[in-house]
Amino acid sequence: MGHLVGKDVFRRLGRKLDGLEIRVPWNEKLHAVLKELYSAEEAELIVRMPYGLSTVQEIERASGQESATVLRLLGEMTRKGLVMDLWLGGEYRYTPSPMIVGLFEFTLMRVGPDLNTREWARLLHDYMDEAFCEANWGDGSCFSIFRTLPHEEALRQAECAEILDYDKASALIAGTKRFSIGLCSCRHEMLHLGEKSCDTPLESCTQFGYAAEMMIRNGLGREVGRREMKEHFARSRDLGLVLTADNVRKNMRFVCHCCSCCCYLLRGISRHGFTGIILTSGYIAGITREKCSGCGLCAQACPINAIAMVAADTRSPKRKQDAVIDTAICLGCGVCALKCPSGACRLTSREQRVITPESTFERVMLHSLEKGTLQNLLFDNPARIDQTFLRFFTGAFLRLPPVKRALLSDSLRSVFLATVKGGVRRQGRGWALEL
Ligand code: SF4
Ligand code: SF4
Ligand code: SF4
Repeated sequence: MGHLVGKDVFRRLGRKLDGLEIRVPWNEKLHAVLKELYSAEEAELIVRMPYGLSTVQEIERASGQESATVLRLLGEMTRKGLVMDLWLGGEYRYTPSPMIVGLFEFTLMRVGPDLNTREWARLLHDYMDEAFCEANWGDGSCFSIFRTLPHEEALRQAECAEILDYDKASALIAGTKRFSIGLCSCRHEMLHLGEKSCDTPLESCTQFGYAAEMMIRNGLGREVGRREMKEHFARSRDLGLVLTADNVRKNMRFVCHCCSCCCYLLRGISRHGFTGIILTSGYIAGITREKCSGCGLCAQACPINAIAMVAADTRSPKRKQDAVIDTAICLGCGVCALKCPSGACRLTSREQRVITPESTFERVMLHSLEKGTLQNLLFDNPARIDQTFLRFFTGAFLRLPPVKRALLSDSLRSVFLATVKGGVRRQGRGWALEL
């Protein structure tokens, strides 16, 4: 394909990736990342392939490339994590990896003797700065790829009986057949930058079901059994790590096990104030004053500094300090409660309901609508002129703030999703709803 590669292929690749679920604002830092990770030939295929999950035949038609070339490039890119391959509807389907969860994680999960990991860590660290966070979480966004999974041991007794399965790591493990564990990209990045200050192990990120199959197939994760997965979660509880999960109720693909010092998500909240990066769980930390000694261990443990120790109320002579929780930012992770020696600190149910999309399909639709890229998934073939027009006009309509607000509102959201699902079925793409 070399002779067909345009001069500005990395600029066009940047535009293509910016049209996915996660926005990637263009600048010289992104240019450097893309030039380092993709060959020009790989970049050209990504630019020409559809935005959504597509078969090899569909990619051949959209790109105008021969089957052998497409298969070779897809094979190389899936092993590098630049393209994701999923077994759906009885065949493999491919889609370009977004920046997260995708390019960043998979690149830094790779291991091997000849990899340029130090340079990749530097380039990705440079790019994923405040401008990147601002583009994705800076506008008070409601939907995110990530949500907090509470540590079950941190729940108050009354909540233990009522917790729903999609909020329980134990139910996720019990209901899944295949599991994998891979390197934590954030810690791996910090290690190569010489800035890793914690001793939290590198092997940490967990994948489930079809995502685990993809990680194992491409050498990005190690297959483990159910017992090892249970032990892995118990280790994270003992280490006081935050469980950051896929923001869906069924077919959860991943759970991250995050430390406050390395995790770019938690640092985005605690250092830069982007509270929408990880959505809260359905719980919130609360303190029973009569049981509290004022030791401050909960405040030390909180990964986003949501607990302040203040001079104790004079009516509480038994302790010098009171722990005060900032309920506006508390994630409901339960790390504070795990460290509380007296049981005073516990997770309780939130009064306001937290909306968790049913499936990855729903999450991608809602998140892409919020980010202004939904039109690319609805009309995803760059080779068809009619779809190019539809993308342009639909995109302009969906980006109108009143339209976006209305479709995301409680009253219209389910109608909007039902309409999109109906359209997807009529296109013969019902397999997408399995995600
Ligand atoms: S999000 Fe958390 S577990 Fe995932 S790569 Fe970053 S620190 Fe590691
Ligand atoms: S106070 Fe901090 S540690 Fe406790 S649940 Fe909230 S975010 Fe987690
Ligand atoms: S760890 Fe428990 S006892 Fe100590 S200050 Fe926090 S709530 Fe109180």
